[in-house]
Amino acid sequence: MQEKIIGIDLGTTNSVVAFIKDGVPVLIPVSEGHILPSVVGIAPQGEVLVGKPARNQWVAAPENTIRSIKRKMGTNEKVTMAGKEYTPQEISAFILKELKQAAETTIGETVSRAVITVPAYFNELQRQATMEAGEIAGLKVERIINEPTASALAYGLDKEEELHVLVYDLGGGTFDVSIIELNNGVVDVLATAGNNHLGGDDFDEMFASFIAKEFADEHKIDLQENHHAWARLLRAAEEAKIELSNAPYALISLEYIAYSKDIALHIRREVKRHEFEEIIEEKLKDTLVLIDKALKDAELEANQIDRVLLVGGSTRSPIVWDLVTQHMGQEPHIEIDPDAAVALGAAVQAGIIAGEEIDAILVDVTPMSLGIAAAEISFAGQLIPDKFAPLIRRNTTIPVQQSKVFSTLYPGQDKIHIQVYQGEEETASDNVLLGDFFVEDLKPNREMELTDVTVNFSLDINAILDVTVIERKTGKEVRKQLKASRQRLSSQDIASSQAKIAAVYEQGEEDEIDEDGEIDDLSIEIDPGTKALLERAIKVLSKEDLSADLASKISVTVEKIKDSLSEDESEQTELYCDELIDWLIEAEE
Ligand code: AMP
Repeated sequence: MQEKIIGIDLGTTNSVVAFIKDGVPVLIPVSEGHILPSVVGIAPQGEVLVGKPARNQWVAAPENTIRSIKRKMGTNEKVTMAGKEYTPQEISAFILKELKQAAETTIGETVSRAVITVPAYFNELQRQATMEAGEIAGLKVERIINEPTASALAYGLDKEEELHVLVYDLGGGTFDVSIIELNNGVVDVLATAGNNHLGGDDFDEMFASFIAKEFADEHKIDLQENHHAWARLLRAAEEAKIELSNAPYALISLEYIAYSKDIALHIRREVKRHEFEEIIEEKLKDTLVLIDKALKDAELEANQIDRVLLVGGSTRSPIVWDLVTQHMGQEPHIEIDPDAAVALGAAVQAGIIAGEEIDAILVDVTPMSLGIAAAEISFAGQLIPDKFAPLIRRNTTIPVQQSKVFSTLYPGQDKIHIQVYQGEEETASDNVLLGDFFVEDLKPNREMELTDVTVNFSLDINAILDVTVIERKTGKEVRKQLKASRQRLSSQDIASSQAKIAAVYEQGEEDEIDEDGEIDDLSIEIDPGTKALLERAIKVLSKEDLSADLASKISVTVEKIKDSLSEDESEQTELYCDELIDWLIEAEE
């Protein structure tokens, strides 16, 4: 068997390794997951630590720990770890060695060749340093490829003809946006822009500062001054941030975070998703400015971009998806695990070099959005019922879990009707109803406030949708299992099916009226009210339990209306319409 070549995403915050297994790119497990924090340290006993243990040690012993070495690659700067100096290549080599070992354990043979990715803007010195780091780690670097190119490879876009792709990569420490042109396997980076100090770490810090400020206002203690307390708060902020990517609330709970005159102080703060989003929104807007810069440099308009790919762990925050969608005027792709896309793409390149047959990465996505019917108050203060409120948007990789908070419509309401729909239409009932149920005996409080309920959707790999509704105040829970449609279609397929179906509906409406008349042939226009009434009559006529007497009365009146329409006798038509309404009301009772 030919020796395997591995693909490595050597990241500022995290690193990931992948290879081609049975023709498909797969991630290689490293310690407890698939992501190795790019942190290296020396333990008190002198042992080398790489990944999670090194990251954990950083809080207690920053002098023995090195983070974010990628920022120094290609410079002559040295770093000191546990009193000894190292070059950036050497520190990176510790990370690469760990990935190499993990690969050997998984593959079961020695691994000595790799493809490593670097940011598109890396200069020759930085690329050279990355090659050297590989060599130090005992890896022959077969090729250095650009991270955005790797992402496009992971999405299988290299096989397409002329495509402009925008890759939005928001990781832990850096933001990069690249515009690449793909043409039958030839990749050209047209422009890049970015910020070396913008990413998830900043969001954690801003979020932690927000909590620390509240704490300082209340207790007059600055948590940032205490290294240990601040590190705990940062960790809790990151955990809450991750939770807020699929839940509307997260709890930051830190006991004994500080002392005031020997009294222990704790933090117990529930944070809402939109609170977090408000904190980071301005920073995220900076990324949109950088998108525009890259577009300008590439001499392209947003609408000339064929695909937008989201990569990097921080793109999992739903607000990123929303802002990019709005800004680009198209839905970006995030189907492939954004933490893994670059490494998987590097593995594809490695497989190509090794001459392996490669299949596309298989991702199971939900083909249509899933949500519930809700009422919405318009800007003008009007109540719009039957609005579709999606919880899981289409093209989301499954399994997935998402929740949202809804509140009852009027004070004292003790029952809600949950109607679950699948589709893309703004009006809920224009979508496919998957099922409905009631949540009863809600406990509105005495002040007659509206009741909040959290609706949770959990969609598994077999497209079983678990809907849970939880009354926030009492914790009362109602669950229902539904079956979502499993069909897997591309967004273009969906769009063309939607257009097709819409056309069939239109045709159907005409067919119904056409049934045994020549309404379509009339040279006059039927007003929409009469048309709707005739459609209603046809629906009623198809009811199985309709009495023969009423059926005949309705049919005769429909005929009279058709006749009067063709004679252009509008007064007569109106009279017959009134008559028909009476029959219909009787039939619909
Ligand atoms: P990367 O460097 O691409 O691995 O991205 C790491 C960053 O992604 C870190 O700042 C993480 O906190 C962040 N991250 C990981 N998962 C999520 C999530 N579900 N929601 C928001 N941010 C996340």
